Amino acid sequence: MSASSRNALRAALLYGLLSVVWLQITDHFLSSFLDDPAQLAHWQLINGYVWVFVSAALIFVARSRLLNILGGGTSLKRQRQDRERLRQAAAVFDCTREGVLVTDRNGLIVHVNRALVEITGYTVAEVVGRRPNMFKSGHHDLEFYQSVFKSLQDAGNWQGEIWNRRKNGEIYPQWQTVRAIADDKGRLTHYVAVFTDISAIKNSQTELVRLAHQDPLTDLPNRLLFTDRAEQAIAYAQRHKTGCALLMIDLDHFKIINDSLGHNVGDLLLKAVGERLQGIFGKGYTVARLGGDEFAVLIESCSKASQAEGLAQKVLETMKAAFEINQHQLFVSASVGISVFPGDAQNAEQLLRNADSALFKAKSSGREGYALYTEELTVHALNRIEVASDLRRALELQELRVYYQPVHDLKTSRLIGVEALVRWQHPSRGLVPPGEFIPIAERTGLIAEIDAWVLEQSCRQMCQWQASGVNLSFVAVNISSRLFARPELYTLVSTVLTDTGLDPALLELEVTESAVMEDSQGALDQMDRLRALGLRLAIDDFGTGFSSLLRLKQLPVQKLKIDQGFVAGLPEDNDDVAIVRAVIALSQSMGLQVHAEGIEHVEQAQLLLDFKCDLGQGYWFGRPVPASELDWQRAPAIRT
Ligand code: C2E
Ligand code: MG
Ligand code: MG
Repeated sequence: MSASSRNALRAALLYGLLSVVWLQITDHFLSSFLDDPAQLAHWQLINGYVWVFVSAALIFVARSRLLNILGGGTSLKRQRQDRERLRQAAAVFDCTREGVLVTDRNGLIVHVNRALVEITGYTVAEVVGRRPNMFKSGHHDLEFYQSVFKSLQDAGNWQGEIWNRRKNGEIYPQWQTVRAIADDKGRLTHYVAVFTDISAIKNSQTELVRLAHQDPLTDLPNRLLFTDRAEQAIAYAQRHKTGCALLMIDLDHFKIINDSLGHNVGDLLLKAVGERLQGIFGKGYTVARLGGDEFAVLIESCSKASQAEGLAQKVLETMKAAFEINQHQLFVSASVGISVFPGDAQNAEQLLRNADSALFKAKSSGREGYALYTEELTVHALNRIEVASDLRRALELQELRVYYQPVHDLKTSRLIGVEALVRWQHPSRGLVPPGEFIPIAERTGLIAEIDAWVLEQSCRQMCQWQASGVNLSFVAVNISSRLFARPELYTLVSTVLTDTGLDPALLELEVTESAVMEDSQGALDQMDRLRALGLRLAIDDFGTGFSSLLRLKQLPVQKLKIDQGFVAGLPEDNDDVAIVRAVIALSQSMGLQVHAEGIEHVEQAQLLLDFKCDLGQGYWFGRPVPASELDWQRAPAIRT
């Protein structure tokens, strides 16, 4: 039974008892005074009415008390809930990361929270009773504050960015919302301001802008900012009928430093180069790093190529002194391309592109020099673009051909293997050698498709030779260094081997020294995986790159191919003789096969045989030819 039901039962029992007692007492009292039964009955009836009135009064009193109690309970509950809500609001008020400030209707601060204390650096006591203008930074004018008050008056609130001052004097931005608070009758009582310190966001925005325009390594302007400055310089030059010039600077063989001494040293060198360039060029010049080892200088107010040439010469001279990096004395040279406005270009983009073409010319004519832009360079550049799009078409139309050059065993003179060399059967230009399109294919990424195609053709051809009884030990296929580092190479080679069914032991992959010396661990892993397929690996053009003997020892290669540049000097050039002899000795001591390419005369073959070189390849043995034209029987005698 519930408490209220129990109370009701108790009240009913009490009421019943009272009724009995009342009736008993009054009855006894009346019967002791009245003897006449009619009169007694009359008074008993009146007594009954009296009891009804007393009961009604009792019930009225009890009920009103009950209502009172009930009414009192509701208001107590409401008070309790209000207190709870206030406690929660106070906790939120104190825990929130936003600063909160409450003023009375006159603008005097009556309350602040903990976050405000943390953000502004003032204590509660220092702010309560004062006005919010104590935080004024001086950043905004009177008009600004007037607009805030107007908005508060008209709309009852305002929000926006406002700069305030902390106690330590620092000014900072905050995002603020102010609201006017009115009572039940609509009369203004308080203002509440809630704000967030947005200096961190602002700082990261500034940092983003800086990063977007500055090279993080050297702190120099990057390509984006440099192009913008070039545009401004051109606009200025156009207005004032003057000129400007652009020097594009690229370090020669920087990759060797990166590969051999590591990227840390490479980075430090780039920083030092940036500083040295800044040292040469003061105000009126913009020195930028465009990416990698490429820098650029914008020379404002310069319309004469000779002035730009003088500065380019100065750059080359300045680079000559050694750079001291991490106890290494490093020597680097640079190449410079020059383009001048308005002579060579009409806008910033052209100026940059033409300086780049001039740089290309400087590099290809022997490096460590400068070159001026000429119109004919654009023709070359356009030609390169044309070749790239033509090459894409050539792949689709199957205009590429694989030629095979014989490789002979020097001891027996017998033809024992072939090297697959790609050619392009161009519809109008005739047979184009790989030197004219492989570098372009490498730059445009088409090389992956070309190498994949040559690999597949060569493996199929080798299978056909095997089937027709031609006894060859290997077919060698060149793999571009661009492709060598990529994981797809392994998938490609294993798929081609499976598809063609060629015995992997008959396939040799030629990679250049630079491909296996750079990113050494990646190259090593790639070589291990390829070796696990059962094929052989050869290092092509050995001696032209930058090998570390220690690294060479770790590589799972079976053959070194001495570059034809050294063979060409045989037998007269003593340096070449010494190099070739050393490479052969090195290969033998490492248990590697050694193969000389570019043999054009019998004397060269003789000397190589004397030095105990294993294999020979060159025009003297046979030029690269289509598969059907190979002469299997040819075994030219090295000794007469
Ligand atoms: P490489 O792999 O060093 O090929 C040897 C080059 O020397 C070939 O030039 C060959 O024709 C040439 N050669 C052979 N014997 C003599 C000689 O006695 N005297 C002279 N002066 N040259 C000789 P080619 O075919 O023009 O190839 C040039 C380079 O193009 C190759 O050098 C190789 O690096 C690249 N290459 C050729 N085919 C491919 C290919 O399918 N894929 C890739 N990635 N590169 C290829
Ligand atoms: Mg080769
Ligand atoms: Mg070679």
